[in-house]
Amino acid sequence: AELYGIREWGHDYFNIAKTGEVTVKLKDGKKTKDVSLASIVKGLRERGTQLPLLIRFGDLLRWRIDELNEGFASAIKEGKYQGVYRGVYPIKVNQQQEVIEEITRYGRKYHYGLEAGSKPELIAALSYMHDPEAYIVCNGYKDEEFIDLALNAQKMGLQVILVLEMPTELDLILERCEKMGVRPTLGVRFRLSAESAGHWSGSGGDASVFGLNISQLMHVVDHLRERGMLDCLRMLHYHQGSQIPNIRAIRQAVTEATRVYVGLVQEGARMGILDLGGGLAISYDGLKGASEASSNYGTKEYCADIIEAITEVTAEAGVPHPDLITESGRAIVAYYSVLIINILDINRFEPRKSVAELELDKDAPPLLRNLFELRLDAEKHATKTSRDRLQEIYNDAIYYRDKLRSEFNYGKVNLRERAHGEELYWDILTWVSKMLESCGHDGSQMDRLDTIMTDFYYGNFSVFQSLPDLWAIDQIFPVMPIHRLKEKPTRNAVLSDITCDSDGKIDKFAHSSGINPTLPLHDPQIEKGHEYMLGIFLVGAYQETLGDLHNLLGDTNVVSVRVENGKVKYSRELEGDSVSEVLTYVEYDPKDMLTRFRNLAESAVISKRITATERREIMESFEAGLRGYTYFES
Ligand code: PLP
Repeated sequence: AELYGIREWGHDYFNIAKTGEVTVKLKDGKKTKDVSLASIVKGLRERGTQLPLLIRFGDLLRWRIDELNEGFASAIKEGKYQGVYRGVYPIKVNQQQEVIEEITRYGRKYHYGLEAGSKPELIAALSYMHDPEAYIVCNGYKDEEFIDLALNAQKMGLQVILVLEMPTELDLILERCEKMGVRPTLGVRFRLSAESAGHWSGSGGDASVFGLNISQLMHVVDHLRERGMLDCLRMLHYHQGSQIPNIRAIRQAVTEATRVYVGLVQEGARMGILDLGGGLAISYDGLKGASEASSNYGTKEYCADIIEAITEVTAEAGVPHPDLITESGRAIVAYYSVLIINILDINRFEPRKSVAELELDKDAPPLLRNLFELRLDAEKHATKTSRDRLQEIYNDAIYYRDKLRSEFNYGKVNLRERAHGEELYWDILTWVSKMLESCGHDGSQMDRLDTIMTDFYYGNFSVFQSLPDLWAIDQIFPVMPIHRLKEKPTRNAVLSDITCDSDGKIDKFAHSSGINPTLPLHDPQIEKGHEYMLGIFLVGAYQETLGDLHNLLGDTNVVSVRVENGKVKYSRELEGDSVSEVLTYVEYDPKDMLTRFRNLAESAVISKRITATERREIMESFEAGLRGYTYFES
């Protein structure tokens, strides 16, 4: 477990069973059951589902909703807080219909609402969110249609809050309200001066793109007062950025925002609601706030600190406690999906011969001879090799190999001789690395050993489609084998995807002691017909719709999994994109493509390059290709 840090990032939803398989905790009636991911995949494979596969666990989504809502409920109780918590889920974090349906259905007991940042998101929200006690918070730029939709929903009894992101939005909103005879529920998004650490810190602070600064805020207050509508200003909102690693930054922001809130109450605005936006972090790497991919606090502490900070400021000013909204997205949906991939191939150095079998031509170039003798000599003294001697062998091997390469460039060494020299070099460094390990010596001065000992494992997936944040912003995602964990991994690997892009790889991995450039993996034994599967975890937030069609690799297969009476149930199986579907996304017409290819085949028949029967077979495989999955099929 230490190798992969699962205890830290798994949140006890993911564990390792005695069988050496990764399990996911799922609800089974009134109890829970740890189900092996490998057995889930096996069941699907038998039904014909291909990897890569995205598995969604509705239970994890529901438990996250519970954790957040219960966290605030107990902080409110303990802090004798007078307001209520009414969280909203920001649709942009995972817009899938299943997520929205589940949040509105299951979240109803908490009056859990939705945040919509655009017109399509508002339309999705209005179709599913019919709880009159829950909020629908409208952020983002709003045109007339967006505003009308929100006001009509309010007329029909929903609690829709229109948040001013820009000062110019106010006039349009007031104009539409007048026309429709509605008094709106307004919020303002404020630009805090407090900046926080983390990738998304730019969403908060003075320089953030969104929100009103303090003078624009005062202008809005004055304008509403002049129109006799200050009672419509009900909510102050800010968003500090996503995945805030440090609780101190969260406290600082809440304190500043509560001061602004109190100021607005003192200005005469009706207020009553404080919306703290997103930012609640989860641990992707288990480093407890020491990196941007983790946090130094849990949900409980987050809730308690927020309640405490607001209570302090409002008590001082004698202002009633506001109702609270947070817009946590990542912390709600990240655990919900796991991507399962299979390893297709590996690339690594393996000596072709044992030392006893090594031979050298009589007229081999001197550098090659030096490498050869270095290898034989090293082996002779294998049992009593000191750290210094290993360093010497390492230095000599590098010197001879580099020189051999330059002699090759001058034409003094031929291709076969260079290949032989490279093999000896890899062989010597592999030997040095093994000796260091067995004698417990430190290899820190021998930096090329890492490259020598690193294998490339080719996984059946696309970073760009399934893990866009890994490519775009170097986000860490937990990756580990989902089976064979009773065996000690023998290889260290970098994981490459099947796009032919050099960015399509994973070379940063969570480990309980830090981030490693390689992942310990087992020999996949593909040649023996075995399947070696890895899980990429915590991909439920932001990844699905941000992904793109690089190399025309499309959406993966998707399935939802739950347990009923001890048995795994598969539902909502969605086939990933077919080749013809992704081609239509980039404006091809598959029918036209078929005609074009048929014409090519027919002219090949006419010119007797292929027979008519061959044409039929070729056309059948072309059509099967169009219908097929965009990933490697097996
Ligand atoms: N609210 C707003 C306005 C956002 O822009 C975001 C995303 O960055 C969120 C909420 C969700 O944040 P998180 O996923 O960190 O909870």
